[in-house]
Amino acid sequence: MKAIAVAPGAGVPEVVERSVPEPAPGEALVRICRVGVDGTDYEVIEGSHGGLPDGDNELILGHEAVGVVEDANGTALEAGQYVVPTVRRPPTGVETNAYFERGEPDMAPDGEYVERGIVGAHGFMAEYVTSPADDLVPIADDLAQWGFLVEPISITEKALEHARATRSAFDWHPESALVLGTGSLGLLTAAMFTETLGYDRVYCLGRKDRSHPTVDIVERLGATYIDSRETPVPEIPDAYEPMDVVYEATGYAKHAFESIEALAPNGVAALLGVPGDWAFEVDGGRLHRELVLHNKSLVGSVNSNRGHFEAAIDTLADLPEWVLEGIVSGIYDLESVDRAFPEATARVPAGGRGSAGTVDDDTTIKTAVEFEGI
Ligand code: NDP
Ligand code: ZN
Repeated sequence: MKAIAVAPGAGVPEVVERSVPEPAPGEALVRICRVGVDGTDYEVIEGSHGGLPDGDNELILGHEAVGVVEDANGTALEAGQYVVPTVRRPPTGVETNAYFERGEPDMAPDGEYVERGIVGAHGFMAEYVTSPADDLVPIADDLAQWGFLVEPISITEKALEHARATRSAFDWHPESALVLGTGSLGLLTAAMFTETLGYDRVYCLGRKDRSHPTVDIVERLGATYIDSRETPVPEIPDAYEPMDVVYEATGYAKHAFESIEALAPNGVAALLGVPGDWAFEVDGGRLHRELVLHNKSLVGSVNSNRGHFEAAIDTLADLPEWVLEGIVSGIYDLESVDRAFPEATARVPAGGRGSAGTVDDDTTIKTAVEFEGI
C-alpha cells in the first residue's frame, strides 16, 4: 500500500510503499479516505516537534483522518462504517496507564503517551491503518467528507471545556470572544463562536491584507477582523472592547501575555500555540496584578480525548458548509501530494522534489490528502 512518510528535519514528505498492517485482537483495519494537514505536520516535517517511532528512520505522517472500516475484526464496529481515529496511544510496549484507563490520555505528561503521526507512532497518511476499535469514533456518512476536521475541532472543544471550567465557580455569561490567529485552528474556532456557541460579538486577529480569503471568512461569519499590524493585542480593549474569552492560536509567544491585557474582568484566555524558545521582556508585575485584581484566568491546553471528538462531530454537523469549503482550500490525491504540503515544498532548494508550480500562493488555508473518495 502507499503511505506518506518523512525523515523529520531532512526532507519533504514522500510517497512510500508499505505492507498493509494486520489488526491485532481489539483492533480494526481502516481504509483511509482523507487526512488533513496542519501546522503541527510542518513542525514534524522540519523536525522541531515530535519524533520517530523506536527503530524507524521515517515517520508516516498524519493525525487528522477519516476512513472507513474495512475489517471490523470482531470488534463492535461494522465494516463500511466511517470513523475518525483519536491521536494518542499508550507508549510503545505499554498496554495502558492511568491516563488511558480514565479516558483522559490528553492529560498524560510527556513519556506517558505516543501520538500517531507526531511522536513515537506512525500516523494515518496511508491507504490502510489499524487502530484499537475504542479509539475509532463513528461519524455519519453525510459528514464523512469533512471528517478530517474533527480532530482540529476537538482541540477547541477541549480548550473551551477547560476554559469554562475555570469560570464555573460563579455566574459567568460570556458574550465577547477574541480569536488570535487566522490559520485553520483560528478560523474553525471563530466559526464555532459565531455559529454554534452563540457569542454576540466575535473578533479574529490576523496579519493579512484585505482582500484575503481568511479575512473574507471572518467577515462573512459576522465577526470583526483585527489586523495585528494596526491594532496590537494590548490595544484591543480600547479600540474595540475587553474580551470575556481569548483563544490564542498563533503560536506567537507574546500573545500569551498580551491576552491578559485583552481580557475583561473575570475573563479567561485559552492558550493553544506551541512556540519555540524566545526570551523577551514583559512587565510581569503589571500582568500578575491584572490576573489577580480582575479574577482573570489563563489556561493552556493540548490534544483532546474521545469525548471531545464526539462533541466535535456534533459541532461539525452544525457548521455551515460554506465555512468548511472556505477553510479547506485544497484536497489532493497522491499524484499531486506536493500541493498538500505547499510550505514544505516551498523550502526545497531549486532542483529538489518540490518543483516550480507545486507551491501554492498565500491563499492556502488548510489542505488534505485524499487516499479514497467519499
Ligand atoms: P497556522 O500556522 O496555520 O496558523 C497560525 C496563524 O497565526 C497564521 O495565520 C499566522 O499568520 C497567525 N499569526 C502568527 N503570528 C501572528 C501575529 N503576530 N499577529 C497576527 N497573526 C499571527 O497554525 P494552526 O492554525 O494549525 O495552529 C495554530 C497554533 O496552534 C499553532 O501554534 C499550532 O502549533 C498550535 N496547535 C496546538 C494544538 C494544541 O493541541 N495545543 C493543536 C493544533 C495546533 P500568517 O499566516 O500570516 O503567518
Ligand atoms: Zn492537527
